[in-house]
Amino acid sequence: MSGAAQPATSKFAAMLRGARGRCPNCGEGKLFGSFLKVAETCNHCGEELNHHRADDLPAYLIVVILGHILVPGVVWVEVVYSPSYWVHAAIWLPVTLVVAVGLLQPCKGAVVATEWYLGLHGFFPSKQRRLAAITPSN
Ligand SMILES: [Zn+2]
Repeated sequence: MSGAAQPATSKFAAMLRGARGRCPNCGEGKLFGSFLKVAETCNHCGEELNHHRADDLPAYLIVVILGHILVPGVVWVEVVYSPSYWVHAAIWLPVTLVVAVGLLQPCKGAVVATEWYLGLHGFFPSKQRRLAAITPSN
């Protein structure tokens, strides 16, 4: 591990590293081996990353985020311009697709990094090591 690379010290910092696709432990290595497949270990610090169980949470988060972006947009366009339905479809279907695909990796990364920070699933030994490293010994 390089001198500047330290474990995330807050849940928000860990989530931000995960959303950027970076290892929550060092912030340097890659969290993903491919588009949505989390790497087995960090290629920079060796932290085990395969303990995650993100399951469907990233998809649920994307639905919530998309709903908050699209519904006001659709209502605003309808109220102001009143276009026909095919115009709505031509606008909002591609927007939905691009935003959803664009949010997949950041949402999954944030969920995995939060699991890592909280020590959920198999990340608990890693959390114990982090806490032991910052806890002063007598
Ligand atoms: Zn790392």
